[in-house]
Amino acid sequence: MKAPIPGCEDCPLEEKILVCCGVFPETGESRALPLPDGGEVPACTHLSAGGFCAIYEQRPPGCRRHECPALAAGAWARGA
Ligand code: SF4
Ligand code: SF4
Repeated sequence: MKAPIPGCEDCPLEEKILVCCGVFPETGESRALPLPDGGEVPACTHLSAGGFCAIYEQRPPGCRRHECPALAAGAWARGA
């Protein structure tokens, strides 16, 4: 699985499901994603438990077009 663009790998899962990967944009589908603490959160059907996109190279246009303000501002970047 390829790591996402720089910054995304350090983005908290809670932020991901709120901003970009809460649902699969093509269908609006979500599933219960298990968390390490035993809980679960609703997330895109392709978001892995590790917080990465399982179809990153084939992700749909809606995902490719996503313009993230946090990412643009350099949030979550390593060392920031
Ligand atoms: S696009 Fe934004 S919200 Fe989504 S994982 Fe990257 S930094 Fe986080
Ligand atoms: S397909 Fe990948 S990038 Fe798109 S919302 Fe789902 S997990 Fe996020």
